[in-house]
Amino acid sequence: MSIEKRKILTNLELCSNCGACIFTRNLSPCPQINIEEKLYRDPIPDIKRGYITRSTDIKILELAQDGGTVTSIVRQMLEKKVVNSALLLKLGRNLTPLPVVVRDPGKVLECAGSKYVYAPVLSKLGEAMREGPTLVVGLPCHIRAVSAIERELGGADVLKIGLLCSHNFRREMYIDLSRKYGFNIDNIVKMGIKKNMFRICLNNGNVIEVPLKELESYVLRCCRQCPELIPTYADLAVGSMFAPEKHNVVFVLSRRGEEILEMCHDDGVLEVMNMEDSVREKILKVCRRKAERALPVREEVVKLLKTHEISIT
Ligand SMILES: Cc1cc2nc3c(=O)[nH]c(=O)nc-3n(C[C@H](O)[C@H](O)[C@H](O)COP(=O)(O)OP(=O)(O)OC[C@H]3O[C@@H](n4cnc5c(N)ncnc54)[C@H](O)[C@@H]3O)c2cc1C
Ligand code: SF4
Ligand code: SF4
Repeated sequence: MSIEKRKILTNLELCSNCGACIFTRNLSPCPQINIEEKLYRDPIPDIKRGYITRSTDIKILELAQDGGTVTSIVRQMLEKKVVNSALLLKLGRNLTPLPVVVRDPGKVLECAGSKYVYAPVLSKLGEAMREGPTLVVGLPCHIRAVSAIERELGGADVLKIGLLCSHNFRREMYIDLSRKYGFNIDNIVKMGIKKNMFRICLNNGNVIEVPLKELESYVLRCCRQCPELIPTYADLAVGSMFAPEKHNVVFVLSRRGEEILEMCHDDGVLEVMNMEDSVREKILKVCRRKAERALPVREEVVKLLKTHEISIT
């Protein structure tokens, strides 16, 4: 894909800024427009098992987004040298997303927390892969891209920990909200979604809550055409919807995912409980609804791309 095409995709709001074409130097087709049709018709991945989990580390629980499952697993994979590096995300000044290749297990906690911004995580995939076995934490669009890159490179094998994702927001949203509510965006310590409200926690203890409905214009078309709530191609999918406070929902999507979760449980790093069928059904309902809503947007996108002479493989 040429730089010109990337510009067109950005203008059409179809670029999720996943960073894949920075890593592949614009050679590959964009994985965010080349989305398999079956993900729209059948968005439920092959789930081996579902669990409710939580970190056993108090410090992680304090700083992580939910149950600290992701941070705990990543730290343990580095500790046990299952992988040599992990590709994670931090935020810099002005909420600039900063993908980082972490080698030191002691540095994983610095990346805890969900960042509701489009982030070019995969721009650093090459650096991570050069170190030998690696893992990536990413949203379904990141994981979709890693899987496409693995197929293209042949033989590449990245451990993939995917987050559940309904949608993301443009960074400009925080600038607009900071003006409206009078805060400095560098003072944000946590962000998240609860009961249809977007919550921003500041370092002075203040919490700003905005109805999600008011923020729809900050969601790009790439999210509106995205069929995946659960990252289909991940080894483990981690979220928090319908889980008790400070816990996670985890879907095991591969044998390797199961082994890793078992290892973390056996090592005493994670509490692991079976997910009730009712919780699983609620999540799968949201998953189906996301794909259903995305389908008409996708059909428009396909037409739009044709008018720009961009082909879909
Ligand atoms: C944009 C977005 C939308 C989400 N939507 C949903 C949803 O609809 N339903 C649901 O159940 N869960 C959703 N999640 C996942 C949820 O917020 C938590 O990330 C998840 O429950 C894991 O919690 P944890 O305590 O284990 O994470 P932590 O232990 O705090 O670890 C979080 C990890 O996520 C990575 N990360 C943070 N932000 C990003 C990002 N923007 N891109 C790539 N990697 C990132 C960090 O590197 C860190 O390693 C969403 C997350 C994001 C970022
Ligand atoms: S979505 Fe990813 S691969 Fe596609 S143009 Fe944007 S950064 Fe590049
Ligand atoms: S909705 Fe899809 S495209 Fe948007 S951030 Fe989430 S995974 Fe990426």
